[in-house]
Amino acid sequence: MGGSGGIGYGPASLSSGQPPSESKSMGSMAWESGTATKGMPIGAPFQVPAPKSGCRLSPPLARMKPMIAAEFAATGSEATGVFQTLSRGRIWHPPTVCWADRPGASRAAPRRAAAIGSLMVVAASLDRVAAAACETFHRPGPGEGTAQRRGRGRSRDAADGCDAVRMTAVIRPRRVLVGSSAMFDCHRFDRGAAAAVRRPAARRRGSWLPATLVPVVVFVLCGGLAAPLPAANVAATPQDDLVWITVGADVFEAAARRLAPPPGLSGGVVLEAFDRHEEVVLTRLPLAAIDALSGIVHADFRRCGGFVKHESLAEAEAEMARLRAPRLAPDVLPFAIDQPTLVGTLAGEVSEAELLSTITALSAFTNRYHAHPSGSASATWIRDQWVGLAAGRPDVTVEFFDHGTNTPQDSVILTIPGSTLPAEIVVLGGHQDSTRSGCLSDPNCIAPGADDDASGIAVLSEVIRLALAHGLRPQRTVQFMAYAAEEVGLDGSTDIAEFYSNTGKNVVAVLQMDMTGYQGSAQDIVLINDWTNSELNAFVADLISTYQPGMVQSTTLCGYACSDHAPWHTRGYRAAFPFESTFDQSSPYIHSSSDTVANLSNGAAHAAKFARLAAAFLVETAIDGPEVPAMPFLDGFETADTSAWSRVFP
Ligand SMILES: [Zn+2]
Repeated sequence: MGGSGGIGYGPASLSSGQPPSESKSMGSMAWESGTATKGMPIGAPFQVPAPKSGCRLSPPLARMKPMIAAEFAATGSEATGVFQTLSRGRIWHPPTVCWADRPGASRAAPRRAAAIGSLMVVAASLDRVAAAACETFHRPGPGEGTAQRRGRGRSRDAADGCDAVRMTAVIRPRRVLVGSSAMFDCHRFDRGAAAAVRRPAARRRGSWLPATLVPVVVFVLCGGLAAPLPAANVAATPQDDLVWITVGADVFEAAARRLAPPPGLSGGVVLEAFDRHEEVVLTRLPLAAIDALSGIVHADFRRCGGFVKHESLAEAEAEMARLRAPRLAPDVLPFAIDQPTLVGTLAGEVSEAELLSTITALSAFTNRYHAHPSGSASATWIRDQWVGLAAGRPDVTVEFFDHGTNTPQDSVILTIPGSTLPAEIVVLGGHQDSTRSGCLSDPNCIAPGADDDASGIAVLSEVIRLALAHGLRPQRTVQFMAYAAEEVGLDGSTDIAEFYSNTGKNVVAVLQMDMTGYQGSAQDIVLINDWTNSELNAFVADLISTYQPGMVQSTTLCGYACSDHAPWHTRGYRAAFPFESTFDQSSPYIHSSSDTVANLSNGAAHAAKFARLAAAFLVETAIDGPEVPAMPFLDGFETADTSAWSRVFP
């Protein structure tokens, strides 16, 4: 198991050994009456002013509309705390109809909100600045420990001293939406010291920022979250709408902080750690919050996946049990590098034009988000492409893998049956879906996903094309998989790996292709070194040095469940994941509307390196023994003698 293999990853953010029961303490203490200046709480919070309702019985002032809409969009609640911030408590708003973002709403309000939203997005980018500022401004009061002064997350006892200012900016086409709760949030004290920290307001004003500057500073520096808050909190969510996930502890910590309901606002999510093993945490959250979690994983950790969604608590607990299982003895691979002629032929014919054609077509879909019609349409497109490539090979099948209620998007699986070792399966996979923040609620969200992961699907398609064009009949069964719904918790690959595991399928090797088109670092191919099989990694490294000796390769880490190799790996299957660059230098465009063909590195030139590697992987894992000659072509057709392809080797 990867986690027990001694390979660390990610910041040791929970290295204090904080027990699970402590990690959920993300709630806020209340603000004390009289400590707010012009509606803006300052200093250590003691009591949250009751939110003013933005929702009454007659039309609101125009300038209130975006805030109401924002609050509604961000929290699902029409009683808003936004006013506490932007109005500083002074904007009068008459009773109003709850119009929120319904059709027919004023066009002016969204425009105005868009302007505010733009400012806030800029502000949100200053998250780290805000955190630093918060710590600077948060001068410890009597009884506050040194651990608290050092900042958040450093001490179990002082419990996260200063958590910066948070803000939410949610912008969607035509209706925007700004939610904010720009408040200093330095509210997690050592419980024992909390009473001592309650100082008179006057004294606090003297030692904190000048009160009149607080709103300005907060507005400018506030940051914390450019992803939407989920629409429901755990307590208010029906059990059926809560999903169990396993997630890296580093992500869990960040998500717990960012999803927590800001003081005075409804909505938000209090994440609870139900179980923890080393760097993985078991938690649950509303299904509606998955998009926000995905956004946090992407924004903070650059991971594409980053967590695994489970169908039930039992399945989530099974994952934790797998992670706790002792590591297997060193692996002995059942294949070797011994087919240079055939590899040379296939790899030599990799076409950048073909790769680019597939990437371009896939990124032309509005999005390939798993839950939207265009996500189903793109799945059908991939299936049809693969069916076309398999024309003339009745033994080759192309099928949808139906994920039931998990997602309407089907995975696509092309199978080339093995000739002599059909029960042994080689899997080459990548995910077909794309996403960006806000896609969950907007079927028209623009998410081209050219690099993430049209580039991976293009590699699979190109290897299929070459293998079938050359009449490949491998000894082992080869399956190409375009996984559904990777971006929302590895739904497709988890479902498939679980099915294969439960039915005892013997998958001997898995290769993951997720992001192959952007060369962000000096290396050409970088192997993900955590949560993968080290022996298979060494094999892949050998494939690179053997067949593409000019390529610069290295290794990198990507954390728990960062892509579809993870469900295979945790179930004991060998998996490897060659990646486009070191993890921190991978494409900055993913999960945005800018993940386009134009932003790939020199068209498909980078992806072609991965296609050559995948071709080598296919041949060398699926064919063993005396070398199989490359099949010459005569006028576009194979020569008559195809016996070599399925020869039985003792
Ligand atoms: Zn991806």
